Amino acid sequence: MSAGADRLAEVSRHIAEAAQAANRNPADVTLVAVSKTHGADRVRELLEVGHRVFGENRVQEAQGKFPELKAAWPDLELHLIGPLQTNKARDAVELFDIIQSVDREKLATALVKEMDRLGRRPACYIQVNTGEEPQKAGILPKDLDTFVAACRDQYQLPLVGLMCIPPVDEEPALHFALLAKMAARNGLTKLSMGMSADYETAVRLGATHVRVGSALFGARPPLPVHA
Ligand SMILES: *Cc1c(COP(=O)(O)O)cnc(C)c1O
Repeated sequence: MSAGADRLAEVSRHIAEAAQAANRNPADVTLVAVSKTHGADRVRELLEVGHRVFGENRVQEAQGKFPELKAAWPDLELHLIGPLQTNKARDAVELFDIIQSVDREKLATALVKEMDRLGRRPACYIQVNTGEEPQKAGILPKDLDTFVAACRDQYQLPLVGLMCIPPVDEEPALHFALLAKMAARNGLTKLSMGMSADYETAVRLGATHVRVGSALFGARPPLPVHA
């Protein structure tokens, strides 16, 4: 087995154990393998052992890697997990199967316009800035219910869930619990939360999707942070 396949097996086992400890079905948790900064060869390693769900945080980087992989593995599911500019909405709707980073009205309307034009409707998550960090993208918790209602009734966005990235210096469990509460209150069933350092905690608190990069692919070369 490749190193990538070894790590995949290990992370999958940790997810299953965390799910069982919380009386959840491991099959209800999807591992999104975050392949940003890593080449298509690393993605292929996981595809070859049966993994199908991947995440990228930049449209342009994903465009360089995934069209070819999607052609070869048609059941590959690609998630956009990073901030999206409205002028990239068309490219995002074309390439991604899931968009996890809807964080403002202007983006929601741009996405719906492109979905109508392209006849392709990737399921969407709203990114919530649970830590209310000024430098971080996401809808503030106090504005969430209104934004959910607008996405559903006004924009008709195909909305399925919520996503968060907790502040690095805080207990992630508090943020995961808050996100789960906000999703339940709004009748949203998908919860994208948990990264390499805290995905087991996220699974215990109800994550349906964990986004794991470095625990699967190894450390990334240092890059400016675009949260
Ligand atoms: C990079 C990234 C991840 C994965 O982070 P790791 O700590 O490497 O697992 C998860 N979510 C988002 C939004 C990211 O940008």
